[in-house]
Amino acid sequence: MESSILPTMIRLRASANSFLSQFEPLAIVVVPIVSFLIARVLQSFIQVIQERGLKATIIGFFMTLVKLVPGVKKHIDAEKQKIVDKLQSSGKSLRGDWKTELPNTGLGTRVLEQMKDFKQKDPAWQGKCSGTVYIGGNESEGHFSLINEACSMFAHTNPLHLDVFKSVVRFEAEVVAMTGALFGSKEKASGGEICGNMTSGGTESILLAVKSSRDYMRAKKNITCPEMIIPVSAHSAYDKACQYFKIKLWRVPVNKEFQADVKAIKKYINKNTIMIVGSAPGFPHGIIDPIEELGELAFSYGICLHVDLCLGGFVLPFARKLGYPIPPFDFTVQGVTSISADVHKYGLAPKGTSIVLYRNHEIRKVTSLLITEWSGGLYVSPTIAGSRPGSLVAGAWAAMLSLGQEGYLEHTREIMEASKRIQKGVKEIPELFIVGRPDMTIVAFASNIIDIFEVNDILSSKGWHLNPLQRPNR
Ligand SMILES: *Cc1c(COP(=O)(O)O)cnc(C)c1O
Repeated sequence: MESSILPTMIRLRASANSFLSQFEPLAIVVVPIVSFLIARVLQSFIQVIQERGLKATIIGFFMTLVKLVPGVKKHIDAEKQKIVDKLQSSGKSLRGDWKTELPNTGLGTRVLEQMKDFKQKDPAWQGKCSGTVYIGGNESEGHFSLINEACSMFAHTNPLHLDVFKSVVRFEAEVVAMTGALFGSKEKASGGEICGNMTSGGTESILLAVKSSRDYMRAKKNITCPEMIIPVSAHSAYDKACQYFKIKLWRVPVNKEFQADVKAIKKYINKNTIMIVGSAPGFPHGIIDPIEELGELAFSYGICLHVDLCLGGFVLPFARKLGYPIPPFDFTVQGVTSISADVHKYGLAPKGTSIVLYRNHEIRKVTSLLITEWSGGLYVSPTIAGSRPGSLVAGAWAAMLSLGQEGYLEHTREIMEASKRIQKGVKEIPELFIVGRPDMTIVAFASNIIDIFEVNDILSSKGWHLNPLQRPNR
């Protein structure tokens, strides 16, 4: 038996060899390519595991597979749409007596009484609401009425008309200059060319910074398929910017300290990268990204770095002056090309005010619109909106000048101390822990033992309005 099988095998192997030898030249080319590809796939798989953790990778892989099943993706998209529809029509059930047409006879001054009535029925938000009102206590009343007066004085002005509303134009220039000075515009390291504009909020500032970076990189490096890289902790305004301006967005996991992971970001940089982003601090956890390292990275690749100071802009410069340990975050850091800062947050200005700043005119000018041929005449507009509320410009100017350095220092000291008290309180509750090491006034807490969303529900029932975070949920 054995003796008959052996020759057969030898013969088979010989014929197989001669058959395969035809392909030898091809194999010399194909085998290395195929093994290279397999190695690359494995390498990126391992990289993903390292960055996201094994569990998240397996779940992510599984979800991708599930979505390939016919109908599943459609179902998920439909469910997402339901959520969007629900959000857009929220309150519909409350409508009942909501007006849908103009009244025949106007209400005259009675309208104000009605408004007071409605306002009284809103939930009380002062002092117990996170992430939308940035002043509390007794001082707020005097401050609010001052801002209101400033706004009403300029309620009918529009900085689009430079030649008419000269006072508002001056206010805007001064608000921008004073904010620039908080971020190092007077320091030699900034290059001395900081410029910018007031916008309607952090989102518009970010949209403009992203658009400027995109157009600047197109002009400078001829990048036509732009990509940008941000930490997962960066604000959703970047998703909006990327959707609006057709930019491919990479969201990179943060490190164990919940900061931007500079090494991980570096891995995503390629010839199409226009910019990276750091937050000081980020909205979810209140943690400052390593801006200096990000600046070095951006500078070495000749790409833009936007620093999101929407939340920290009117706290960090003062906290540093007060002696709190604050790492570098502004234009004195080489590589930072733009900054956004919300005056309507800790700047204590009325809602609808933010500032976008650029390192120099070259970066800004690609976004400012200048139309010389329009039949309506010369048209210059530096922001997304055309007409803009002069009242808000005036409100921001009033907030900054009425408070001054000392006012902001005092306010910052109070909230920094309040934040320390909250941290201490959370630490005394054994079931909770603080997320990362809060750098500023934002404290995120979590639990490995109890359902944190339930904690939020209970706090809500006691009149607190906190921001529930996710990923991780805890
Ligand atoms: C608030 C905030 C934004 C967005 O600002 P809006 O004023 O809500 O448009 C962006 N980034 C950070 C860090 C923020 O805190």
